[in-house]
Amino acid sequence: MSIFKDLWWFFKLEKKSYSLGILTLVMLALLHLFAPYAVRVVVDKIEAGTLTVEDLLLWTTLSLVVGLATYCFGFLWRIMLFGASNRLGKLLRNRLYEHFTRMSPRFFHQRRTGDLMAHATNDIQAIVATAGEGVLTLADSIITGGIVVFTMAFFIDWKLTVIALLPMPLMAWATSKYGSMLHKRFHKAQEAFSHTNDKVQENISGVRVIKAFGQEEYEKKEFKKLLDDVVEKNIAVARIDALFDPTIILVVGVSFFLTVAYGSFGVVSGEITIGELTQFTIYLGHLIWPMLAFGWLFNIVERGRASYDRVEALLHIPPDIADRPDAVDQVPSGEVEYRLKSFSYPESDKMVLKDIFVRVKQGETLGIVGKTGSGKTTFLRLLLREFDAEPGSIRIGGIPVTDYKLLRLRQAIGYVPQDHVLFSATVAENIAFGKPEATQEEIEEVARLACIHEDILHFEHGYETLVGERGVTLSGGQKQRISIARALLLDPEILILDDSLSAVDAKTEHLILEALRKNRKQKTTLISAHRLSAVEQADQIIVLENGRVIERGTHQELMQQNGWYKEMYERQQLESLVAEGGGTVGHPTTSPLS
Ligand code: ADP
Repeated sequence: MSIFKDLWWFFKLEKKSYSLGILTLVMLALLHLFAPYAVRVVVDKIEAGTLTVEDLLLWTTLSLVVGLATYCFGFLWRIMLFGASNRLGKLLRNRLYEHFTRMSPRFFHQRRTGDLMAHATNDIQAIVATAGEGVLTLADSIITGGIVVFTMAFFIDWKLTVIALLPMPLMAWATSKYGSMLHKRFHKAQEAFSHTNDKVQENISGVRVIKAFGQEEYEKKEFKKLLDDVVEKNIAVARIDALFDPTIILVVGVSFFLTVAYGSFGVVSGEITIGELTQFTIYLGHLIWPMLAFGWLFNIVERGRASYDRVEALLHIPPDIADRPDAVDQVPSGEVEYRLKSFSYPESDKMVLKDIFVRVKQGETLGIVGKTGSGKTTFLRLLLREFDAEPGSIRIGGIPVTDYKLLRLRQAIGYVPQDHVLFSATVAENIAFGKPEATQEEIEEVARLACIHEDILHFEHGYETLVGERGVTLSGGQKQRISIARALLLDPEILILDDSLSAVDAKTEHLILEALRKNRKQKTTLISAHRLSAVEQADQIIVLENGRVIERGTHQELMQQNGWYKEMYERQQLESLVAEGGGTVGHPTTSPLS
């Protein structure tokens, strides 16, 4: 029950709703006593032969009034308790979401998206249930149960009450036991179902590969195995479900039997009237729900406890990249400087960058080339502070990147990552992602710079065309160019293109680079690329190999060095010549050396 203590801060926050909700439940419990009492009076009057029409009218009218009040109170407590618990869901979801947005890529790298989603959905749902149904079942079992038992014992017959209640703990036990088994099995069934979903999704998106490798039969068999598993686990759920009702009926039946058997003696011996026995048996019916509630309570609380702990543990993970207390609150600009002795990713011994000394003056373009895995992306991500390197090793305008406010740092940088992320929104919204207030003219201007404007005009709804799963299918090159337009819209001090031109053809690449040169005269640009033509015009090019700079200079200087750059450049030139001539070497983007 410690979960209620942990949620106390929220109960205090919503004390009006909770007090009113519980007060309403008390009123309801008291009102519920009335109808059986009315029955008792009427039955006893019938028995005594003194029932008049006026009596009947009076009691039925009173019952009607009480019924109406019950209706209103029933509405009120739901609004109060479930309204409050849903607000808790909103509050926790917001906290978790905000926390996720503060976390670094490392955090997401270490955890599976599916798990994080489960925390944000199932766990929060379980906590909401504790603050809603949990409080209800607790209040109901104690208040309603207590009031009914008190009335039965003190106003009717305490001995009869003890006898009638004898089997009831068995019901609370059964509810709790079956409930927890049901939950475990249900969870397994859900898991099996979600495996099937994953498989369907994977097979649909990978259908071309499955067909190309002739694996349809194998995949069919695998899928059937998963379906069998789903059925088996759902039957396991049904088995417990099937036990549940008969057990409850049995226990309640025994209780009623004992009441009627013992009560009849009481009536015969004159200890209680028939009316009282009738009233008593109706009250006994009223006890079924509190007993069930008592059993359910344990399950709700158990789940809530585990979920609350999981969510709290997540919320307590500090972001590993955070603002220093005296962080500089200005958008960085000026020279970009790397004086990096070495860098390894957290939890990895492998040195990814070593002895990197690079200076890029404001307005210059730096090209970063090298084989896959040589450290190009890492070099760029360090500038964005996705990870922190040695203190003071990377500076913008003379100030270490770690000294700027993160928000300001990221405002200075327009980043086009390798893996493009487009959202399920319109093309215009995707471009305006970093600046939602952008005008249509601004959006179109950057789209032109990124050479995607003409393509967009050919989409069915132009800039209003939906992108993503339910929208238009874009080619890799189109996605890249939309991502570039998105970064350009911010007119950033520093633009980072991380192999962002790999899927566009050589001519378009040339046009985009030309446009960048014209429009970003005073601004710095960092371009990493496989295709060396993308960095040919850069003021400075570095060649990385195993995290070290092995060659550096302008294109002309590098061509005189007879090193990796020259060899690669000539090879790519040859490849594109062959490709243009209809040869078989393939597209220059898929360099055999990379
Ligand atoms: P490139 O962009 O040149 O292909 P990367 O910077 O992506 O190279 O990778 C450089 C090296 O760092 C690779 O050996 C890669 O395996 C490693 N690496 C990249 N990301 C991580 C990470 N998050 N954790 C650990 N190692 C990483």
